[in-house]
Amino acid sequence: MFYDEVKILEQKELAPGIWQMELEAPEVARQAKPGQFVNLYVNDPSMLLPRPISICEADPEKGILTLIYAVVGKGTEVFATYEAGTMLRLMGPLGNGFPLERGGEEDVRELFLVGGGLGIPPMLFLARKLHEKYPEKPIRIFNGFRSTPWIEEAFYPYGEVFSASDDGASGFMGNVIDAMEYKRIFTDEKIKAVLYACGPIPMMKAIQNWQTAYNMESWFSLEERMGCGFGACAGCPANLRMPDGSIMKKGVCKLGPVFPGEDVIFQ
Ligand SMILES: Cc1cc2nc3c(=O)[nH]c(=O)nc-3n(C[C@H](O)[C@H](O)[C@H](O)COP(=O)(O)OP(=O)(O)OC[C@H]3O[C@@H](n4cnc5c(N)ncnc54)[C@H](O)[C@@H]3O)c2cc1C
Repeated sequence: MFYDEVKILEQKELAPGIWQMELEAPEVARQAKPGQFVNLYVNDPSMLLPRPISICEADPEKGILTLIYAVVGKGTEVFATYEAGTMLRLMGPLGNGFPLERGGEEDVRELFLVGGGLGIPPMLFLARKLHEKYPEKPIRIFNGFRSTPWIEEAFYPYGEVFSASDDGASGFMGNVIDAMEYKRIFTDEKIKAVLYACGPIPMMKAIQNWQTAYNMESWFSLEERMGCGFGACAGCPANLRMPDGSIMKKGVCKLGPVFPGEDVIFQ
């Protein structure tokens, strides 16, 4: 994990209020794993807490890190004003990341990646890594957007891509779960699949229901309001089922943000 000053190489608005930031961050790009995140600090002493953003792509050769973020509040509003050349403080890579090795097991016949909204960016890094590691394994990627997609094409080299949008601007009209149901992707209970997901809670709850009906393993990346980002402040608890069946609150930033789907208790 590094704490460093990094340079913004490029910033562009992909869709209204959704920005892509490229950073020169060689050490983080070298160490990053899909599903991990970085803590970005605002260059303003009145905003002390860092903003956690998932790693959308990492290029270890060029030393470039790509992040995609939505402007939702004060910090992200300031990030969007930064131009190429601005220096930023960053800590990362943080968190555990998705377990890639699960997808490689012989009896696993298919891999599903499901992203909803700002849960889509980390799935791009994951899709590339899974495709590079297991080129023979079918990967089906479901992305749910509010309206016009913003990074859909970047997924094309890595699997079969399906998009859904609330307003029907592209692909299936409805949410990503509706699209998966429409495609009837889970029809054979005997085919073992691994599903990786990041997105809104209702999306992950629906996936949990499928999990009990089919021979499927799922991994969820959770988002909680965070303080420090590395387990020191106990500021981001999630309810998790422990191996003995008890339920405990555990910090998302350090133990997660990725957890086995069956262990997550949504409120
Ligand atoms: C592991 C993780 C990965 C994330 N990845 C992305 C991503 O790839 N793209 C993206 O757009 N957003 C992502 N988020 C959400 C992002 O961190 C918040 O949208 C952002 O911190 C909001 O900051 P703000 O100052 O604009 O909002 P404000 O509401 O003004 O923030 C006030 C404080 O609350 C914290 N906060 C607010 N919303 C969240 C939130 N949803 N999660 C955690 N802390 C929050 C802020 O960090 C800040 O400390 C992620 C969150 C987590 C926990």
